[in-house]
Amino acid sequence: MIGVFALQGAFYEHEKMLATLGASYKEIRRREHFTDGLDGIILPGGESTVQGKLLREEGLLDPVKEAIAGGLPVFGTCAGLILLAKTLSNDENVWFGTLNVTVRRNAYGRQLGSFRADIPFEGIGNFPAVFIRAPYVERAAPEVQTLAACGGKIVAVRQGHMLATAFHPELTDDVRVHEYFLRELVS
Ligand code: GLN
Repeated sequence: MIGVFALQGAFYEHEKMLATLGASYKEIRRREHFTDGLDGIILPGGESTVQGKLLREEGLLDPVKEAIAGGLPVFGTCAGLILLAKTLSNDENVWFGTLNVTVRRNAYGRQLGSFRADIPFEGIGNFPAVFIRAPYVERAAPEVQTLAACGGKIVAVRQGHMLATAFHPELTDDVRVHEYFLRELVS
């Protein structure tokens, strides 16, 4: 059972991916939805500051942070990567802070608000990556594995049970990154 955070942003597209892969999921919007028995969680893209504030208001920030720190598998896309990052280079907020990376928000600037690139993804092959006002990883600690880079910038990482991409696999019809999460991190 995968918990899909549904406070804000592109969560429905993740649910479609999970449905395609035959995985069960539930939406998490309120504290009482975040129950024991979840095998993993997904943090969707959207607006990280809005998501972080909503998580805090719902009383979800601390329990989810503790669960992730305790080993709950997590997959964050775009704003989800920002929520997981230990440090943000151009924002003073730290949300979950469990992933040992420094992330730059809106890192591609206005002219590259959104774009698509085919990039090699470790263990998967070429993947059609969709970037929307995307962050990238500026620094990754030695325990963090780089899974994909684009133009010399790190855009997909894994640290044990935590997977994060700066791009949006859920906005394609290519299920391989979700499949990787379920296979390598959840089961
Ligand atoms: N720019 C957004 C942020 O900083 C992230 C964009 C996205 O999730 N597509 O939160």
